[in-house]
Amino acid sequence: MSQRIQSIRGMHDVLPAENALWHTLERVAQEVFAAYGYEQIRVPIMEHTGLFERGVGDTTDIVEKELYTFEDRGGERMSLRPEGTASVVRAGVQHGLLHNATQRLWYVGPMFRYERPQKGRQRQFHQFGVETFGQTGPDVDVEQIALSARLFARLGIRGLRLEINTLGTPAERQIYRDALHAYFSNHFDALDADSQRRLDRNPLRILDSKNPDLAALIAGAPTLTDYLGEESAAHFQGLCDGIKALGIEYTVNPRLVRGLDYYTRTVFEWLTDDLGAQNAVCSGGRFDGLVEQLGGSATPATGFAMGVERVVALMAAQGVAIDDVGPHAYLVHQGDTATGRVTAVAEGLRDALPWLRLRVHAGGGSFKSQFKKADRSGARLALVFGDDEAAADTIQIKPLTDDREQEVVARDDAPTRIAALLSHTD
Ligand code: ATP
Ligand code: MG
Repeated sequence: MSQRIQSIRGMHDVLPAENALWHTLERVAQEVFAAYGYEQIRVPIMEHTGLFERGVGDTTDIVEKELYTFEDRGGERMSLRPEGTASVVRAGVQHGLLHNATQRLWYVGPMFRYERPQKGRQRQFHQFGVETFGQTGPDVDVEQIALSARLFARLGIRGLRLEINTLGTPAERQIYRDALHAYFSNHFDALDADSQRRLDRNPLRILDSKNPDLAALIAGAPTLTDYLGEESAAHFQGLCDGIKALGIEYTVNPRLVRGLDYYTRTVFEWLTDDLGAQNAVCSGGRFDGLVEQLGGSATPATGFAMGVERVVALMAAQGVAIDDVGPHAYLVHQGDTATGRVTAVAEGLRDALPWLRLRVHAGGGSFKSQFKKADRSGARLALVFGDDEAAADTIQIKPLTDDREQEVVARDDAPTRIAALLSHTD
């Protein structure tokens, strides 16, 4: 036997048993996006590497160490996307969507980062994201926080914490950067190698360090709040007031800087205590400079991205109610006449009941062994079509998940009866 090929490290299959969770999240997310008037945009999973270097920032972890980059057959440098925002902005500029218009967009899809795989951290993972373009006010930042809160509530997820912060404008951040640089330079020997390297390139990134040995030093660093101008302070106040008015609880975390370079003013994160170290399930903020940086005309923007695998893990951990996506009914059949006609019978049921999830037994075998498969399928009804039923033009319906009686119905009446037994009202 030749050696089996395995999936790439950090890139996972989502098997059928797990997909009810994914399906529930996808359905609820789409309903919630629609409820706020957001429209879907689909962008390619590969882009010119330069898009991410310019759009994500070449001193970020993502671009410095996590990008999947290669030359295609024509010698062009391209990368699998590590996040969605740069592509959405690129598409918005390219197609002229952002001129004098407010756009509310959402996307979903796989993202790729060459990270150290561990629980909650894959090399291929998925994100849902939303972006609003064309509005400067904190009201759209608040709207997106409300949207994410509603999404979690609709999913039945509990116990998330919302942290918010402001990063000010680039000018304010420059002054703050100098202050941070001075502070950390005074403690250079206490920094780890990563942070020492970041000191000159991007000292803000030191605040994002996950090294517990640096926690005390970071806690003592100056905060950006002390360097905010009037407008940024007012924007942040508007954000806090707006969230409070909706009754959403939050804490201000002055150390929340986020891993991407493009943020301005608002940043926020939804955190959980139920998933171990990888505790961020949704992260976002405002990025007023990015559209211009990518060649568009200056356009304010704000958005967030949510880690699908982490939200799914949280749904599983908390045992939230999920959509039933398994078969409603399992059709067993035996005998030459019956088996010759069963496909037509099944198609007739699907014509009459387009919502019905019907699995037809394949592979023959005794009724007994077929019923075992029907039970195992999780279906609520077994439909029985043998030669007797074929001759009488009937179907037997046998409830599998409660003790209601088995019944025989004329084939013409079967759809109505099946719908009633499944109490489906479409
Ligand atoms: P982290 O600090 O966990 O690395 P990040 O700041 O890199 O997160 P973002 O780039 O803001 O994360 O991505 C938004 C969300 O996507 C995160 O909050 C998280 O839920 C999810 N996410 C990010 N990277 C991964 C990954 N490698 N595997 C699974 N989910 C991820
Ligand atoms: Mg990261």
